Amino acid sequence: ESSKKVAVVTGANKGIGYEIARQLAQAGLHVVLTARNNDLGAEAAKKVADSAGTSDVTFKWLDIADPASVNEFGKWAEQDLQNVDILVNNAGIAYKGNVFGAEEARHTMATNFSGTRAVCERLERLVPEGGRIVNVCSLAGKLSILRSPELRARFEEAATAEDVAKLSEEFLQAVADGSYQKQGWPGSMYGVSKLCEATYSRVLAEQLKPRGVSVYACCPGYVATDMSSFRGHKTAEQGADTPVWLALHAPADGSGKFYSDRKEEPF
Ligand code: NDP
Repeated sequence: ESSKKVAVVTGANKGIGYEIARQLAQAGLHVVLTARNNDLGAEAAKKVADSAGTSDVTFKWLDIADPASVNEFGKWAEQDLQNVDILVNNAGIAYKGNVFGAEEARHTMATNFSGTRAVCERLERLVPEGGRIVNVCSLAGKLSILRSPELRARFEEAATAEDVAKLSEEFLQAVADGSYQKQGWPGSMYGVSKLCEATYSRVLAEQLKPRGVSVYACCPGYVATDMSSFRGHKTAEQGADTPVWLALHAPADGSGKFYSDRKEEPF
């Protein structure tokens, strides 16, 4: 067994996640590339290994929205990795066009917020002192998307994962009964899910601070991937830059903050 540091990346079969995995492998880490599709994930891991000129790339199945998969991965990580020095939560979804509905909102939230939370809660105990968790969120999920000052205050004051989960549940309810606009929520399922994810990152940072583990939220910028129908002006390689910088180089006292283009972003 090598003494290389271990990095786990979610949703790494394509797009920004693939590039994050590639750059971390290139930087000399043992990368555990995870994906919800076995064939796509295994193929991506092979490509990353070839491109980085290393054999230290492992593929593992991880569907972040499936609690059984998260648990299975957690058990494997406990036994085979022991330490997860770096965890990059990159996996995410966004419906395209004007799709909006209760079912779709629930699916978006279950992946972007609850899925990311489940992975953090399962793996957090394996992250040692000095370790880092990087959550790929979005500036589409800024506090300012909330039209109600009351809601904004509740997000700002959220102190536990349960507080955030309660807010996410209220949004889903309000979408289901059609009252979301009246209550001051925006019409963006993606935006609210990413706001929950970023708020959760701040909460988790506070929780893990005593153990010397840093947690960062970030926006990769507008990136040409499947998600943006390849309309973004950044390449995936450029989109991976800030998440990789946070994983390897950002100051530890930036834990709990939100970053974009390697700079702290007021949220
Ligand atoms: P892609 O759609 O290219 O990639 C998303 C990745 O997440 C895919 O590998 C996808 O797997 C995976 N994924 C989705 N759901 C799950 C799940 N339940 N379990 C595991 N993996 C899953 O998008 P990007 O690379 O652009 O997005 C990466 C991250 O960056 C996302 O969190 C996104 O919200 C964020 N982001 C992107 C922006 C952009 O402009 N592109 C802007 C701001 C933020 P599969 O191939 O199986 O679908």
